[in-house]
Amino acid sequence: MNQHTVIAVDGPAAAGKTSTSRALSDMFTLSYLESGRAYRTLAYEALAAGIRPDDRAAMTGLISTILQKNQSDTLFDPTRLRDSDLRTLDVSKAVSTVAKIPDLRSAITSLIHEWASHRPASIIEGRDIGTIVFPRAQIKFFLTACAEERATRRHRQEPGSVYETVLADVVRRDHEDTSREASPLRPAADSVVIDTSSLPLGQVIAMMSEVCRSAGMIEKRHTTGAAR
Ligand code: C5P
Repeated sequence: MNQHTVIAVDGPAAAGKTSTSRALSDMFTLSYLESGRAYRTLAYEALAAGIRPDDRAAMTGLISTILQKNQSDTLFDPTRLRDSDLRTLDVSKAVSTVAKIPDLRSAITSLIHEWASHRPASIIEGRDIGTIVFPRAQIKFFLTACAEERATRRHRQEPGSVYETVLADVVRRDHEDTSREASPLRPAADSVVIDTSSLPLGQVIAMMSEVCRSAGMIEKRHTTGAAR
């Protein structure tokens, strides 16, 4: 494997990207990055500052201001904002609009490149990692599942949520992510596509780890917790 190994894990919401990426990061000692956090953080900060997510100039100003005041990996920092704040319905709605802005996408792509350049081997999940961010990633996965199954999983993870509302959000985001002009969600031609609809998580992880081993990645002997 090259010095900077990148594994791309793309796919629609709740297809299993986070659980599988975290498991692989532990098995193969990879640094893990959830790229959606950057888009969600920007959507959250916009709402908090009263900026309309479709105001492209204001949104570009917002990311510049944040990056002037903080380190370059601040938008990926899991301690900056709570997951519960980033996963509200308001943020989920706003994030689809934010993610359509080409200048913001370019800025976040650069931040991901910068982050990965400091890590020898990483696994990065998102929507455009294998197509745009790292088109030459050594291994690319595209996880998918039917919308009903994904909504069922998300509904189970979020106590108090209403299944119909979760399903509507999944379907809406699928549409917005696949139909946008800038970096639409689609599998890279050379990705390993896995439909997880009727597969238990353990089996998906087993399939993905087999692909990694076949590509020459060495599993660590003892698993002690996700690599950061
Ligand atoms: O991964 P997560 O569901 O948290 O991502 C939230 C939203 O961020 C997605 O629906 C998508 O619009 C956007 N996103 C993106 N490109 C990425 C990661 C996330 O457009 N690489």
